[in-house]
Amino acid sequence: MSDDTIFGKIIRGEVPCDKVYEDEDYLAFKDINPAAPVHILIIPKKPIPMLTDATAEDTALLGGLLLTANRIAAKLGIAENGFRCVVNCGPGGGQLVYHLHMHLLGGRDLSWPPG
Ligand code: AMP
Repeated sequence: MSDDTIFGKIIRGEVPCDKVYEDEDYLAFKDINPAAPVHILIIPKKPIPMLTDATAEDTALLGGLLLTANRIAAKLGIAENGFRCVVNCGPGGGQLVYHLHMHLLGGRDLSWPPG
């Protein structure tokens, strides 16, 4: 499946990013427009456009996404105070880039509900 999104280009190395973590399945980098002192985007390398496109075949990949957030939160020193993981899905969910990704936000106390 071709992935012409900005995140597909980042995965292929065609566009630079400020990388904080990478393994075989995931890439994580700093959001270019941070909404918190720590704002990381964690993306599965598999090009799933949005959460509703994921299937049972992606169960392990989706679980691994959360565990990767844990690992990065610990690495960046925000695990103890706490953090938030967000997946925006579709236009109503505020999704702008149609390559599945999770926002990891922390480094300050976050209010609820979000906007
Ligand atoms: P979403 O609204 O969930 O699709 O979030 C997309 C996020 O990608 C936004 O927070 C943008 O600031 C971020 N973003 C877009 N382009 C880049 C880029 N080249 N490098 C890092 N973050 C980006």
